[in-house]
Amino acid sequence: MSRESKKQPLLTAKQTAELFDILAESISPTPELNHGSKLDLIVAVVLSAQSTDKQVNKVTEELWKTCKTCQDYIDLGEEALAEKIKTLGLYRNKAKSIVGLCKILLENHHGDVPGAMEELIKLPGVGRKTANVVLNVGFGMPTVPVDTHVFRVANRTGLVNEKKPEKTELQLLKKIPKKHLQHAHHYLLLHGRYTCKAIKPSCQRCQIAQLCKKSGLNKQTQTRESQGSR
Ligand code: SF4
Repeated sequence: MSRESKKQPLLTAKQTAELFDILAESISPTPELNHGSKLDLIVAVVLSAQSTDKQVNKVTEELWKTCKTCQDYIDLGEEALAEKIKTLGLYRNKAKSIVGLCKILLENHHGDVPGAMEELIKLPGVGRKTANVVLNVGFGMPTVPVDTHVFRVANRTGLVNEKKPEKTELQLLKKIPKKHLQHAHHYLLLHGRYTCKAIKPSCQRCQIAQLCKKSGLNKQTQTRESQGSR
């Protein structure tokens, strides 16, 4: 069992509130994935699996010059779409999912993206995390999509102690103060992307280090690394 998976004490409600107050003061909850319409958004989130937001933004900048509606993607077809997105990982699967979801949106939802989890997760390439991003960013709902960054930060800090993303999501929904729920996943995601990185987290300049249950994790990582290199 790794050190990070050991049971650790959780933050109290007061500490949780303080942690989100601090993150809310220092992080702007702006999505880094470009989008205009809700269709753009769901396409961008499907494209973002195992790709960076920067890579996806570069691809969608060109793609959206010609693909604006479900019919545009269907007319383009899987092969040509795959060609346009081939700089991204899993591009063939992504092209198949996007054309497939556009067909369903056109047949069942008049070409619109539905604002309900149970409908979204029926679409090809759309899992719970993607659906939660669409509901949060596209529909302004207070959902908490749990990606790799949110999962890592939530478990390191002591907000939760869970092994699965879905359980982490459900615990976060219970614990995050209502006033921060709408933007909470952006705070955790951006904190994870730029400060609490998977390898060598920047604990020295971390604004929530005084609350975090794993503060100093970077030193442990470095010590283990230096011991390993002897
Ligand atoms: S103190 Fe370190 S481990 Fe804790 S949240 Fe900050 S960067 Fe992450």
